Amino acid sequence: MANVKSKAKSSDVRQFRKMLEQKSTELKAQLGTPTVHTALKAIPDPYDTADWAEKSHEEWIFLQKNNSEVALLREIEGALVRLRDGNFGTCLDCGLPLSRKRLEAVPWAQYCVTCQERRQTGSN
Ligand SMILES: [Zn+2]
Repeated sequence: MANVKSKAKSSDVRQFRKMLEQKSTELKAQLGTPTVHTALKAIPDPYDTADWAEKSHEEWIFLQKNNSEVALLREIEGALVRLRDGNFGTCLDCGLPLSRKRLEAVPWAQYCVTCQERRQTGSN
């Protein structure tokens, strides 16, 4: 079952999926309200405020209060999707594989260290 194209070994995928699901469950429990599910599903991009004009502000307020947790949860959900699609572990920006060390520390990382730093300094 050697698949040279595969970016991560299936044993790694299982390990990372477990880490991601665990963290996701933990965060959902921490947020502790069904509103998070509505909020996550309702708005593709919670930072696109224009979208909120016609919607209940309950989710919006919830997102504001739990901004970092919700953002993290979305990153985790995104990583789980990438795992399913088979492109987990590559930088969304430059397409280079993320280091194993980085993935072990932050399995939901979207960008390599270089791109992450560039984005952080670039967007400020
Ligand atoms: Zn990159």
